[in-house]
Amino acid sequence: MGPRSLFSTWSSMSERKAPKSQEKVRAEELPDDLPGQAAARAVLRQALAAGKLSHAYLVTGPSGSGKHKLAQWWAAILTCQHDSIDHRPCGHCQSCRLRVAGSHPDLQILSSADGLLHREQVVEALHRLNLKPQYSAWQVLVIENADTLSPDAAQALLKTLEEPPESALITLTAPGVDRLPPTVVSRCQVVSLSGAGATEVGAWLQKHGVSVDTAQQAAAISAGLPGRAWEMAHGGLADLDPAMEIVRSLPELARRPKELFTAVSQWADKYAKREDMQRLVLWIGILYRDLWVYALTQEQQLLTLPVLADTYKNLVVATGPYDAARLSRIVSVVEKTLRYLEAYGNPRLALERLVLQVIQGVDPWLKE
Ligand SMILES: [Zn+2]
Repeated sequence: MGPRSLFSTWSSMSERKAPKSQEKVRAEELPDDLPGQAAARAVLRQALAAGKLSHAYLVTGPSGSGKHKLAQWWAAILTCQHDSIDHRPCGHCQSCRLRVAGSHPDLQILSSADGLLHREQVVEALHRLNLKPQYSAWQVLVIENADTLSPDAAQALLKTLEEPPESALITLTAPGVDRLPPTVVSRCQVVSLSGAGATEVGAWLQKHGVSVDTAQQAAAISAGLPGRAWEMAHGGLADLDPAMEIVRSLPELARRPKELFTAVSQWADKYAKREDMQRLVLWIGILYRDLWVYALTQEQQLLTLPVLADTYKNLVVATGPYDAARLSRIVSVVEKTLRYLEAYGNPRLALERLVLQVIQGVDPWLKE
């Protein structure tokens, strides 16, 4: 496959309209000490200490894994003028002060404002990489959500990756290596993040002032992804009730198509932002997963939300016997929906498809 066909394949993938990037704002609210990053930080620290840095790194991880935090930490380490023993940026050298003020001449952080990183932005940033660094050894460029690079922006980046300027150090972030052209990936050292254990994430939340109950609950439902747990613990738990309302009402609405589509349309309006829809669908998935486990075992301690055991029991009573095989299929449909949303899928379409597939599964459970 020549570069042209490769880029056109990737082009059709990236042409899906990506939403405005909210992640950066959220990432800045997160504390710096995210769990689940120790191994990745150690790899980078060792490379720095050994003087064996690669010119390009690609940090991958699902939404909520803290990949932007890691990239920001790395940029801070590279630009700090002090070489502290634990490789934390000192925070008070001139370079650190400029970085914190957002006016460091040797540091650029690119992020898509409209869901697409355009060629002009990237070319300008790449041009600056040729300048001699003023405060540290490196001209650092971070490209967040590199999976939103337009095809010609990616091509421009590729040229620089093939022949990087002496002092250039580029860090990309993306959900996964499959979201970038292989030619770009092959020129980067990949650092992947997959989250931490629920216990570690729960303890970290508590350390940052979250109550024990909320911390445990947020950690349990976040699959060890600290960013997601943080969000759940700071308001995200509020979406549990709307998700429960959807799960509860679907069997009944399945009998009344007009009302069903009105309801779906209202939910889609309310959760029009991709991040919001992701959170809602995540909750829907947790509830169906719990219903599935409950239908199979009736064991409260196996549930993600044991506190809802009675509600699950009532749901089973209200809608007839739940078929575990169908519930398991719904859980996998929810997982597919989450992957679709992660790939910048359309939130409304995601919800419509999910509901239709759930209903096809729900129908036979109804009491006639
Ligand atoms: Zn410093």
